[in-house]
Amino acid sequence: MNKMTLRDIEVTDKRVLVRVDFNVPIDIHTGAITDDSRIRATLPTIQYLIERNARVILISHLGRPKGKVVDELRLTPVAQRLSQILGQQVGVAVNCIGPEVEKSVETLRDGDVLLLENLRFHSDEETGSADFAKALARLGDVFVNDAFGTSHRAHASIAGIAQYLPAVAGLLLEKEINTLGGILEKPVPPFISVFGGAKVSDKVNMLKNIMGKVDCLLIGGGMAATFLKAKSYEVGRSLIEEESVGIAAKIMEEASKSRVRIILPVDVVIADEITTEAKGEVISVENIPPDKRIVDIGPETLEKFRIALLGGRTVFWNGPMGVEEIPQFAEGTKCLVRLLTDLNATTIIGGGSTAEVINAMGMADKVTFVSTGGGASLKFLGGEELPGVVALLDKGS
Ligand code: ADP
Ligand code: MG
Repeated sequence: MNKMTLRDIEVTDKRVLVRVDFNVPIDIHTGAITDDSRIRATLPTIQYLIERNARVILISHLGRPKGKVVDELRLTPVAQRLSQILGQQVGVAVNCIGPEVEKSVETLRDGDVLLLENLRFHSDEETGSADFAKALARLGDVFVNDAFGTSHRAHASIAGIAQYLPAVAGLLLEKEINTLGGILEKPVPPFISVFGGAKVSDKVNMLKNIMGKVDCLLIGGGMAATFLKAKSYEVGRSLIEEESVGIAAKIMEEASKSRVRIILPVDVVIADEITTEAKGEVISVENIPPDKRIVDIGPETLEKFRIALLGGRTVFWNGPMGVEEIPQFAEGTKCLVRLLTDLNATTIIGGGSTAEVINAMGMADKVTFVSTGGGASLKFLGGEELPGVVALLDKGS
């Protein structure tokens, strides 16, 4: 990465303002955090700062309060979980800007950690207001961006603060950029990518950008229906984006020119509807009835994927193989997780839903890296510059 990190600056005795992405999934009925991996992912940065006696001021958003105070979206449960994990009390401020918050910050001692209240309680955060960014910047001596998952947004706390404070990357941001950047720059071949998830359109840029680097592409999930349709298969009432059928055809054409192997499903699970009561049936892709929907990949497809994956030295996976929210249609995705964890290869996983599945299975530590960025990882792998990264100081500056 060509940006400065917190290792390149002096942090001892400093007020270090750290943008983190604590936008964790919360159970709407119990208020409990259902996946704390985003909190855990920032520990290296937070611990690095505590060990060096910095005063750590954390800022984050949670959910979509749209500029209003929403009690269910307060960061208190996040601070509690972070306290448990750190083994150190983490306070929560009443707000994220203003005189009261400034007072709380003044009372911090070296090595203390304070979490400020949800940034998105202020609409100025998402509009990227300069005044809001300035008010935040007053709270710190230096700024660290460790919120990879939000770095594709030019929000006040992401790109704005960097105009007013020396701004560097946190250790998670650095790891994300180096790991994801590594698969674009120098993937050890054979490089295999597995794509799934809902829509081709979300992922066109990433598909195109990765096409030139991969040796083999495996396609499942909702996306497979679009590719199958481009090959003139009947796909029934499957999730299809008409406008992406041409794109899929083009990708396959380019792949055959550049000798990239594309493996599409040979069998799928179909159902009448996408509901929790629906029953699945395995069928060859030759025989999909016009009134059914593809909801998962089938066992023969998984076997083909397994054999292909065994030959990979670098594997990147984004997007579930089926409707993983419904247990009976989650098998393909879960089997793929198990296949990946058994490989002797660099295995990298990106995408919000995909990460949630592997975290819920408790198998995230059995792959090389699980990106904490959903949209951010797609944009980055699609070749776009991330505003939150662009705003940081260049190495050597
Ligand atoms: P990620 O967040 O990992 O990038 P996406 O957001 O692209 O993944 O896609 C996740 C969604 O794709 C899930 O909600 C899942 O239900 C849906 N999906 C996967 N396979 C299918 C399918 N065959 N039909 C409809 N939806 C699907
Ligand atoms: Mg998603």
